Amino acid sequence: MELVIIPDDISMRTLGMKIGAALRGGETFELIGDVGAGKTTFVKGLAVGLEIDDDVQSPSFTINRRYKGRNGLMLNHYDFYRLNDAGIMGMEVAESLSDPSSVTVIEWGQSVNDVLPSDRIAITIHYLPDEGRRVEIQMPKSLGYLWSSRGVAQW
Ligand code: ADP
Ligand code: MG
Repeated sequence: MELVIIPDDISMRTLGMKIGAALRGGETFELIGDVGAGKTTFVKGLAVGLEIDDDVQSPSFTINRRYKGRNGLMLNHYDFYRLNDAGIMGMEVAESLSDPSSVTVIEWGQSVNDVLPSDRIAITIHYLPDEGRRVEIQMPKSLGYLWSSRGVAQW
C-alpha cells in the first residue's frame, strides 16, 4: 500500500493523469471515499492520461458513462451510490471487466463487489483539514507498470 498526500484538486487530477498515461487496458479501479472526497476528480485526471477529449462528468445519476481514449481504449466509469442492488448493471460491469481494451472505474462498488477482480487497484481517499486528501493506493503486483516509470515520490 502506498500513501500520498494530495493537497488540492489539481494534484488529484495530476495523480490520475500519471496513472492514466500508463494504462494498457483491462485494468480495474475501485474508488473509496465519502461524497466530495475527490473520486470523480481522480477520474478526470485518468481521462486526461487516456487522451479523452470529453469532459468527464460524475455518473451519479446515469450510473455509467463511457469515453473513448487513445489506442482504442475505452474508459467505463460507474457510480453505484445508494444502489443496494446493481441488478442488470452487474452484467454490464462484468462485460467491461472482461474487455481487454476497457478500463473499468467504479465508485461505490459494494453492490458489485462479487464481480470485481482481486487484482484491482483500490484507491481510498480521506479528507484532511483544509483542502488536502490522504490517498491510499493498493496496487496489485501484476500492475507494477502503472508506476514503474513515475516514482510515487513525484506524486
Ligand atoms: P466524489 O466523486 O468523491 O464525490 P468529486 O471529485 O466529485 O468527489 O468532488 C471533489 C471536490 O473536492 C471537487 O469539487 C474538487 O475540486 C474538490 N477538492 C478540493 N481539494 C481536493 C483534493 N485535494 N483532491 C480532490 N478534490 C479536491
Ligand atoms: Mg463521484
